[in-house]
Amino acid sequence: MRLSRAFLPTLKETPAEAQIASHRLMLRAGMVRQTSAGIYAWLPLGWRVLQKVAQIVREEQDATGAQEILMPTIQTADLWRQSGRYDAYGPEMLRLKDRHEREMLYGPTNEEMVTEIFKGYAKSYRDLPRNLYHIQWKFRDEVRPRFGVMRGREFLMKDAYSFDLDHDGAVRSYRQMFVAYLRTFARMGLKAIPMQADTGPIGGNLSHEFLILAETGESQVFLHKDLLEFDVLSQPVDYGGDLSPIVDFWTSRYAATDEKHDLAAWAAIPEAQRVSARGIEIGHIFHFGTRYSAPMGLSVSGPDGKPVVPEMGSYGIGVSRLVGAIIEANHDEAGIRWPEAVAPFKLAVLNLKQGDAGTDALAARFYDAFAPDAVYDDREERAGVKFADADLMGYPWQAVIGPRGAAAGKVELKRRATGERVELSVDDAIARVKAG
Ligand code: ATP
Ligand code: MG
Repeated sequence: MRLSRAFLPTLKETPAEAQIASHRLMLRAGMVRQTSAGIYAWLPLGWRVLQKVAQIVREEQDATGAQEILMPTIQTADLWRQSGRYDAYGPEMLRLKDRHEREMLYGPTNEEMVTEIFKGYAKSYRDLPRNLYHIQWKFRDEVRPRFGVMRGREFLMKDAYSFDLDHDGAVRSYRQMFVAYLRTFARMGLKAIPMQADTGPIGGNLSHEFLILAETGESQVFLHKDLLEFDVLSQPVDYGGDLSPIVDFWTSRYAATDEKHDLAAWAAIPEAQRVSARGIEIGHIFHFGTRYSAPMGLSVSGPDGKPVVPEMGSYGIGVSRLVGAIIEANHDEAGIRWPEAVAPFKLAVLNLKQGDAGTDALAARFYDAFAPDAVYDDREERAGVKFADADLMGYPWQAVIGPRGAAAGKVELKRRATGERVELSVDDAIARVKAG
């Protein structure tokens, strides 16, 4: 992308309404624009990041054998009456009427709809287990939308739904999602900690919230220090096999939000191993048995021919919230420092003397080596402006090309995450960035 032609509406001033770094930086970098309270348009830079985040989520869901679908945002009230949630849901639900006065709603979640869809298909135990997910916009009329995309009213969520024949199968599905979540967040450079969460009126102990630590988090969390040191990506994973080595590591060490905090268990942990911090919830997994399948009449014939009501679970990830959360975890005073896996572009080529035959030629050559995963700052702007913008947008690499270097065939490479700079020949610099 050539910046001279790009739609990148950056802001010079810090927006007054933004209270936390990610919100401030997303507005300043021109990633999103608020169109009404808690509702955002995603602009080119932000949209690229959102799609990269969604793609990692998708790949890790697919790896478990879950299958992607796409359910609509608009649902009928009747569906929610079957589960008994239509009246219970309250003012967070956006309720609508169509021209025939039929009651509709903009989906805040999809348990009812997916159960209805699956019911039309599943006849016997051979149709189980299945896991269906989608990545779709949700609407929740939050009392206090804030912190930009972190707590929006319209937001992008990945929600998966598992269907199993019995409790053991449901636990297996739950553990698959547990591991997939750890891998998903780790691939984005995040240290997400699963914490036991409330299961509400349904009971049981199978619900975990995944949180990352950040000063601006809305929850207070308590955890064992070991959990920050586990590298899940270095572990072999076989979703058809035994996931205990990973799951047991996490579930055998203390981690809880303040709602579930157990003072006695906490006191038993040596002081040097205790971490108490603020956290941001980025995912939530939940086993709820027959809470939806039973009232909605989902039943299949079991191996003995008798009807069985499948056990279900649901598994959410806040895809748009993650964009904010990643920035909370990766920024400095100058701007964003994208982890490579989710960066909008891998590198920015900064031509310090636009119009100079030497710098123009070298910059174009460098840009061509990485396009379309690169931006080329070919604007007629001062060097200082280009440096500041590249730091703000947070591309992992900057290739700085000035007249002196160009004459010597050299490029200055800067790594955004560390600030480290090296001067290299063009070929070496290209190889260096390609090596990551
Ligand atoms: P919270 O406690 O933050 O309101 P929740 O428990 O209501 O979250 P879930 O219903 O479990 O959230 O939704 C799954 C995921 O969707 C959450 O883990 C979170 O990452 C994301 N999410 C929920 N509400 C919002 C929102 N208003 N804006 C952006 N993301 C959200
Ligand atoms: Mg909520």
